[in-house]
Amino acid sequence: MSGNEKIMIVGAGLSGAVIGRELALAGHQVEIIDAREHIAGNCHTERDADTGVMVHVYGPHIFHTDDAEVWNYVNDFQTFMPYKNRVKTTSNDAVYSLPVNLHTINQFFGKTFRPAEARAFIEEYAADKSIVDPQTFEEQAMRFVGKDLYEAFFKGYTEKQWGCSPTELPASILKRLPVRFNYDDNYFFHQYQGMPQNGYTDMIGRILDHSNITVKLRTRFERADDADIGHVFYSGQLDGYFDYEAGRLGYRTLDFERFSYDGDYQGCAVMNYGDASVPFTRITEHKHFSPWEEHAGSVCYREFSRACGPDDIPYYPIRMVEEKEQLAQYVARAEEETDVTFVGRLGTYRYLDMDVTIREALDTARLYLAKKADGAAMPAFLHRPV
Ligand code: UDP
Repeated sequence: MSGNEKIMIVGAGLSGAVIGRELALAGHQVEIIDAREHIAGNCHTERDADTGVMVHVYGPHIFHTDDAEVWNYVNDFQTFMPYKNRVKTTSNDAVYSLPVNLHTINQFFGKTFRPAEARAFIEEYAADKSIVDPQTFEEQAMRFVGKDLYEAFFKGYTEKQWGCSPTELPASILKRLPVRFNYDDNYFFHQYQGMPQNGYTDMIGRILDHSNITVKLRTRFERADDADIGHVFYSGQLDGYFDYEAGRLGYRTLDFERFSYDGDYQGCAVMNYGDASVPFTRITEHKHFSPWEEHAGSVCYREFSRACGPDDIPYYPIRMVEEKEQLAQYVARAEEETDVTFVGRLGTYRYLDMDVTIREALDTARLYLAKKADGAAMPAFLHRPV
């Protein structure tokens, strides 16, 4: 193919929208299809008709990044309002601050430690120093916070979230969370953090607003498509593209029990529940994600995690040993395809934060344009997922 070719993008979430816009700006005709009836994928936000609260329909999304280009990019399409994610957790009939910080440690152990004292206490008394090179989630937790904090805040929560023992999960999952020996309770340590003033769907709608882009909702992708399509960027499920011929890649799905409340239900956006005896992982109160707005009523989600079935919405890729073997088969199959690039969380079967998704989408579009200029082939993956 030469010149500006027609591009098909499967999925109108963040990956599809960002790639679509970059290629539209370069003069390509871009058609984006999505099986759902709305754009924005799992970032979708909409106002609750009764209360006016902006609801994160598929669970909370908080934008945070250290990538200045990505931050500038999203700010071109939306005013970002200041927002700091401050998470609380209920465990054993008490409420604590997360991520584990000096307040958590002092409250939990009934102490008045200063930073160096807390660090020494955790290292000398709480942490299991016999673990030299932690491999599993449990080992990582035992090594860095010790048994008591692990059991109160991580063990039960993780069993509920992942449906398995933390001894079967990689240490990398816990490494997402810091331990702090000061009173900083900002859940994320990134330089830039905020919430889109009018929600993610409005932001993604603006990214998609270009005369070279058409979006078709309620439209499923068929592999045998028009011959006039030059390249496909596919952000649907990788295994779905191949009709699940090597079995279904494992995901966790979420069920949200939505309820309304007259007033302020819990006083914060996210309350985790560490006890295994409480069946949900957390309650999110959505008006607190927009602290610059005022609403008398409230909308909350009780969040339950379980194995994802064929008709469920996939959220978290599991990526344990079994899934990785299956994934390798799909990656090999994908690399036999021509003119298809797999992108995003579902297309590459990786847990991606929104900023990383945008970074990869920008890089993917740029690589495509560079390859095109050189007459070279575009790879199936920007970052090979195995
Ligand atoms: N986690 C936990 N207790 C908590 C919060 C998190 O054990 O109160 C564990 C859990 O296994 C989770 C992981 O830490 O999957 C990463 O947490 P994060 O908040 O990044 O999860 P996400 O918001 O991506 O679901």
